[in-house]
Amino acid sequence: MPDSLIVPLIGAVLVAAVLLPFLSSHRRREAASREAEAEALRYGLHEPVSLHPVIDPAGCILTGNCVDVCPEGDVFGLIDGRVKVISPARCIGHGLCERACPMHAIQLVFGTEKRGIDIPFIRENFETNVPGLYVIGELGGMGLVGNAFEQGRQCVEGIVKKIGSESRAPGDPDLDLVIVGCGPAGLSASLTARAAGLRFLSVEREDIGGTVRHYPRKKLVLTRPVEIPGYGKLNVSEITKEDLIGTWEEIVRGSGLEVSTGETVTSARALAGAGAPGRTGFLVETTLREIETRRLVLAIGRRGVPRKLGVPGEELPTVAYSLREPESFQGDRILVVGGGDSAIEAALALAAQPGNEVRLSYRGASFRRIKPKNHERVEQAVAAGRLEVLWGTNLVRIDPDSVTYRNGGAPETLPNDYTFIFAGGELPTKFLRDCGIAIDTKFGTP
Ligand SMILES: Cc1cc2nc3c(=O)[nH]c(=O)nc-3n(C[C@H](O)[C@H](O)[C@H](O)COP(=O)(O)OP(=O)(O)OC[C@H]3O[C@@H](n4cnc5c(N)ncnc54)[C@H](O)[C@@H]3O)c2cc1C
Repeated sequence: MPDSLIVPLIGAVLVAAVLLPFLSSHRRREAASREAEAEALRYGLHEPVSLHPVIDPAGCILTGNCVDVCPEGDVFGLIDGRVKVISPARCIGHGLCERACPMHAIQLVFGTEKRGIDIPFIRENFETNVPGLYVIGELGGMGLVGNAFEQGRQCVEGIVKKIGSESRAPGDPDLDLVIVGCGPAGLSASLTARAAGLRFLSVEREDIGGTVRHYPRKKLVLTRPVEIPGYGKLNVSEITKEDLIGTWEEIVRGSGLEVSTGETVTSARALAGAGAPGRTGFLVETTLREIETRRLVLAIGRRGVPRKLGVPGEELPTVAYSLREPESFQGDRILVVGGGDSAIEAALALAAQPGNEVRLSYRGASFRRIKPKNHERVEQAVAAGRLEVLWGTNLVRIDPDSVTYRNGGAPETLPNDYTFIFAGGELPTKFLRDCGIAIDTKFGTP
């Protein structure tokens, strides 16, 4: 070989050695992303539920950091040489992608142009527009047990710091803090307040555990390890509802935390004199008493009032909006209404009981925004004849021994004993507005 060719040849070999593996890994990533995109479309995960990322294409320089850093599985993908948000419904909003992007080309937003989401106004420290009044957990727009726990801890740690730098004025309420709601967010806030030695009260209208306590029996809770003040790390990612509640109860006992259960907060307003610089105070009314506090944390979730369908017969005692004991229903004809994870998990739990005839009525043509595992479980239950899905149906009437629904045509009536409705919850908007909290309807904005 002539000497003049040796250098270009070595160059070509070196370029090929670097470029070929890069191109082949790029091709593999694209192929995997296309598969993930198809799955997202099949399962409706391409439509965001709450907080989710959007990418500014002009800013993206294709570092792929967002793809690598997101642990939630295929929120991002690489398609046609660009980074794309393919499963926004999988986003749980920790914002790792936003922080990993060197070009600040990613933003987390709520809702979409078409689908608005009501979100109370909250600052980074979880304080609302009302000084001293905080909102944490699902009420603030961020669902999931792990997030709620994390927010409860962070919020109260911030309050502890503020209190440390404040002086107490004469006439200030004795209590530093009232925490309303003891689901994962309120529980974590309360444990943090307890560990920090604050003077505080936790008020819960039911029992500790919040929405988790209402999951169907033996439901597997998919979560992430969380740091619990005064306890350490609770290192679980899959745990049954009963074990999770049991663990929380043990932690509460061990910490000496007292929660006033069976007490509902009915209103909260600023105390006269509050609002002066550095002074905050609230009068909180509950079903049992009036409480004065310097600060107030609302951790009341978003499921407070189940959404009703407004159909005749909804007031019958055979109609319910949650399912706690599926084994109490055996040999029954049951209609479950809804297309979200709650409806599906309830229908599956009921379908697993002996002798039940279970139908799931959903107005859509396919389930959207549900966990892929639930998709599989529904398909298996349908294939095994344990569950029937009535696609594209709307319930129009409930009678003591039948239900009537429409699927576009004439109404159809089926014999039925019990009806479970899972049509989501209504944000306690009035309560929040009465507290003075500003509420934004977000259409794809942060
Ligand atoms: C069926 C189902 C399955 C789910 N599965 C999972 C899962 O596998 N993994 C996961 O991470 N997340 C899951 N979630 C979501 C998760 O349960 C919620 O995001 C989480 O519970 C929110 O916690 P929170 O503390 O903000 O609110 P909540 O858990 O809703 O707690 C709010 C608490 O406030 C109390 N309260 C309300 N109003 C008042 C008042 N006026 N006075 C006093 N107390 C009040 C309520 O009684 C309740 O105890 C699921 C949700 C459902 C419905």
